[in-house]
Amino acid sequence: MLVLLNYLNGRLAPPLAGRYLDNIDPATGRVYGQIPDSGPEDIAAAVAAAEAALPAWAARPAEERGRLLEKIADLIDQNLEALALAECRDNGKPLALARSMDIPRAASNFRFFGTAAPHFATEAHVQPGLALNYTVRHPVGVVGCISPWNLPLYLFTWKIAPALAVGCCVVAKPSEVTPATAFLLSALCIEAGLPPGVLNIVHGTGPGCGQALVEHPAVKAISFTGGTATGRHLAATAAPLFKKLSLELGGKNPNIVFADCDLAAAVATSIRSSFANQGQICLCGSRLFIERPIYEAFKVEFLRQLKDQTIGDPLLPETKQGALVSEAHLHKVLAYIELAHKEGGTLLAGGHRATVPGRCAEGFFLEPTVFENLPPDCRTNQEEIFGPVVTLTPFDTEAEALAMANATDYGLSATVWTRDLARAHRLAPALHCGVVWVNTWLHRDLRTPFGGMKNSGVGREGGLEALRFFTEAQNICISLI
Ligand code: NAD
Repeated sequence: MLVLLNYLNGRLAPPLAGRYLDNIDPATGRVYGQIPDSGPEDIAAAVAAAEAALPAWAARPAEERGRLLEKIADLIDQNLEALALAECRDNGKPLALARSMDIPRAASNFRFFGTAAPHFATEAHVQPGLALNYTVRHPVGVVGCISPWNLPLYLFTWKIAPALAVGCCVVAKPSEVTPATAFLLSALCIEAGLPPGVLNIVHGTGPGCGQALVEHPAVKAISFTGGTATGRHLAATAAPLFKKLSLELGGKNPNIVFADCDLAAAVATSIRSSFANQGQICLCGSRLFIERPIYEAFKVEFLRQLKDQTIGDPLLPETKQGALVSEAHLHKVLAYIELAHKEGGTLLAGGHRATVPGRCAEGFFLEPTVFENLPPDCRTNQEEIFGPVVTLTPFDTEAEALAMANATDYGLSATVWTRDLARAHRLAPALHCGVVWVNTWLHRDLRTPFGGMKNSGVGREGGLEALRFFTEAQNICISLI
């Protein structure tokens, strides 16, 4: 039985109250480990350690902070297999995906912000003969980073790395559903020589310890990725305390396919953007709008390629679709499938729990599911399902596609498939979302601003945006007279 520990003041430590939660392998349905069920007392200890470490870490030259982050990146690379296996077991995702996407990206996050640290320059505004203004960017202080279960180490490090790069000290809480790689990261930080207290990782539930982190008066900023309802609750807690807040929330992303597209590329990538990570990526396109002249052709090819989405043991190389993250989440997604039937949808594929024989017989698997004939304003097309369930809807004009794409409370990302350059440039800025992909999906450049509009979030991560978020800008004005 794998028993995880918190990472507190440079050491691995059990939760102060000695309580633990079960950790379940979603591919087998069986408990395989114990997770600290930390409370406010663990958060208080972690914040105290971070406060003590802050002056020295903030004063350290950016190059040195950067080198330490790069060392952590190297250690992640060296431990790729162990980390990928832990991610696969915790989350149910195919091992091949964890190995090719999640873990390499976690290393990239540390490397990207480690190399960015010394290049993070500041501005000067000169008023010739009058005054010189220059901006000093101070690390904001002790910050809280809270992450979800779908891309566990990938998103956890995406927050921690920029905070550490600018000289903040961090108390981080990974999802209690997928804590294993954050635990393994603790050991790598110790091995890299990260000074005690600079990064503290506290495991536990949202209400049990996440809430205490958000409420703690010494925590000056919260970077959160998770569901919109949780984000709303967090904002209500943190806003009256005047904390800086970055919120990366849910999505209901449109995937708009025009008749002039490269159909083969559009279908192949749409399979990925619909079902990668079992549809549990905030950027998955769950509403597919297809121009009527190619609607049937797209549908036939999409359903044909869907048959290659082998559901199976996440450890096997041929598996394209692993288990959903938990039994509760499986039932939530199944309830949406029932709703789609009630709303009059026509089931084209999937729709049922899948059985995988052998060691995975009790796992939380679901067939990739496709509906059509659902109105754009029905709940199935409005609410985030966060599973392998998509809808196909035909459209006749660009204006109609745009209106349907924008008609949700969410605004995270969109994908457009067209060979018409003018259309791409016209449509992309009119889409109410933070990220638009044209003829591609999930292409990421870590320098670009990342985040959502409307109920998909507040603020942007990535590149300079993240570095600025974790700093407090101060203007100093020197008279030249
Ligand atoms: P969630 O909101 O349930 O949990 C996210 C994190 O918040 C977890 O660590 C949880 O323990 C913590 N938490 C819960 N209640 C809290 C509280 N009161 N105080 C402090 N922390 C609390 O989300 P989830 O189910 O883990 O993740 C799925 C959601 O995340 C989806 O909605 C998905 O779209 C979203 N997501 C968004 C992005 C993005 O970049 N916009 C990326 C990935 C996932």
